[in-house]
Amino acid sequence: MSGRVAVITGAGSGIGRETSLTFARKGDSVVVTDIDEEKGLETVELIKQEGGDAVFAKTDVSKFEEVESLVNQAVEIYGTIDVMFNNAGIGTLGHILSLKIEDYLRVIDVNQHGVAYGVIAAGRKMRELDIKGVIINTASVFGYLASFGTFPYQAAKGAVRMMTQNAALELAQYGIRVVGIAPGSVDTPIIQAYKDAGMTQKMTEQQMRKKLIRPEAIANAVYLLTLEEADVINGSVVMLDDGYASFK
Ligand code: NAD
Repeated sequence: MSGRVAVITGAGSGIGRETSLTFARKGDSVVVTDIDEEKGLETVELIKQEGGDAVFAKTDVSKFEEVESLVNQAVEIYGTIDVMFNNAGIGTLGHILSLKIEDYLRVIDVNQHGVAYGVIAAGRKMRELDIKGVIINTASVFGYLASFGTFPYQAAKGAVRMMTQNAALELAQYGIRVVGIAPGSVDTPIIQAYKDAGMTQKMTEQQMRKKLIRPEAIANAVYLLTLEEADVINGSVVMLDDGYASFK
């Protein structure tokens, strides 16, 4: 499988960067997008160094006009959009009693509305162009299991689960698939705050093999989910957690 066009949000770091590299290595063209231009351009450079094809489009996923423009740009540049990976996200630490409302709202804006905007913009464009595409949404095991100090993050990730199911239901009639992923603890910059709070050991022990998950492993699984061979997987949120949610 190669020659598809994949739009990947939050592609300047962690899971988004590794997924961009994986898709490009398989021969897909990647629209690398991030709010952080420097990091996004770095990802494009890494892909080009390996002989892959990528362009950068700066996007703040919490703004619908920007996500819509991103999807339009992908189609203007490459003529199609086969995969939309709604992956950008931010973390928070803060208990309900002390949480600032602006921090709550920012997490919902990026992690929940950002995914919704990607589903809406890509779903509409795929329908308009009659593309039987795949939309992948990043949820989390924290969309299933309660944890301390993560109220806004969990609210958003729980919403991503249900949006994935609903979008799959509505878009199936057009041949568009929507799948969610629920990673466990993945070794990327987003978990630095948890490491700083002395939670590394706890996070490590949450996986069955007692180590943090490599972002490359998530990237490989995301790639597999987008293949035609995986087309029975629709509306599900797939656990990419090395067993975390199975034995907690
Ligand atoms: P990361 O911090 O390495 O990457 C996140 C990227 O998103 C960054 O490049 C950041 O600049 C970008 N971003 C932030 N706000 C944005 C916005 N408004 N618009 C566009 N881009 C924005 O973290 P990661 O671990 O790679 O996280 C990717 C996704 O995986 C997130 O949705 C996160 O919640 C989810 N996730 C991560 C873990 C984990 O343990 N790392 C576990 C479960 C789910």
